Amino acid sequence: MDNQSVRIIPAWYHLILSTTVFLPIQVKASTLPCTSTEVRISSSWVNIGRVPDENQPKPSDLVELPRELSLNRERIALEKNSYIALLEMLAKAEKDGIYLRVASGFRSNRTQKKIIESRLKGHEYLDDIYRSIAPVGYSTHLTGKAVDFASVEQPFESTSAYEWLKINSNNFGFKETYYKNNPYGISWEPWHYDFTSR
Ligand SMILES: [Zn+2]
Repeated sequence: MDNQSVRIIPAWYHLILSTTVFLPIQVKASTLPCTSTEVRISSSWVNIGRVPDENQPKPSDLVELPRELSLNRERIALEKNSYIALLEMLAKAEKDGIYLRVASGFRSNRTQKKIIESRLKGHEYLDDIYRSIAPVGYSTHLTGKAVDFASVEQPFESTSAYEWLKINSNNFGFKETYYKNNPYGISWEPWHYDFTSR
């Protein structure tokens, strides 16, 4: 992760926390109008590709986390199999003395768009924004299987929570998607995990 990314994380991370909401109505990428936030997408995201419609959960597949597991007790939902695996993982973490909390889960295209637009209003360049957040339609948070963990300690990669996740997350089917020096050209996101399978 470069120094610039480290500096901008607190601002957008806070934004994600304040804008992540559980929306029962699904907004498909293909139904969104083309906006200024969608026309210029870095080649990294083009290579990763859009989240296919079939990988997006139906509202009935989403389960809301108990509020005490979410940072600041906000509403966060996950796809149900990811939810079950997450609860098991958090229980094991707690047994090991690691107090993991969730900062973000399912995120609709509408929320993703709001986050990008807010950062544009903060006078960030779109190319910089897309180094640390996916364009509308490209975020794995759209699948309901992605989780951002939170820690009061910063930076996340220096926390005992991250050390624990590195060793244990695979056992529960979670993978650090944008690991350090990943081949996708996306900034290192030590807090972002996707549920794959067990
Ligand atoms: Zn994330």
